[in-house]
Amino acid sequence: MMAGKTIFKRIIDKEIPAKIVYEDDRCLAFEDIHPTAPTHILVIPKKEIVSVAEIEESDAALIGHLFVVIRKIAEQMGLDRGYRVVANSGPDSGQEVPHLHFHLIGGRKMTWPPG
Ligand code: AMP
Repeated sequence: MMAGKTIFKRIIDKEIPAKIVYEDDRCLAFEDIHPTAPTHILVIPKKEIVSVAEIEESDAALIGHLFVVIRKIAEQMGLDRGYRVVANSGPDSGQEVPHLHFHLIGGRKMTWPPG
């Protein structure tokens, strides 16, 4: 096992399984292992970016692409009543995995503000 790889990098490299719902040359989307709603998908770039706090100007097109993918997955999943896209960044947010990821959560009514 290679030291230093995050769990998401290992999913990208197909070293551990995931329920992948979408993949292209720049990103991967898979089901969250502990879903918080009927639909809970994680959308990640294949590029290793730690969090929103490490996004560079040169990543702008990649981040835009991730959101187009999120919108398409939301349509495919039938989330026509709405959904939430969350990116935890840093310790106060509760970020657990240091590889940028967007949670796509839907299929139930949600409250605001988050905890
Ligand atoms: P965060 O707290 O924003 O870093 O979210 C990390 C998310 O990754 C959590 O919702 C976990 O349930 C999820 N997660 C952790 N390991 C896996 C895995 N092997 N496959 C799918 N989801 C995972």
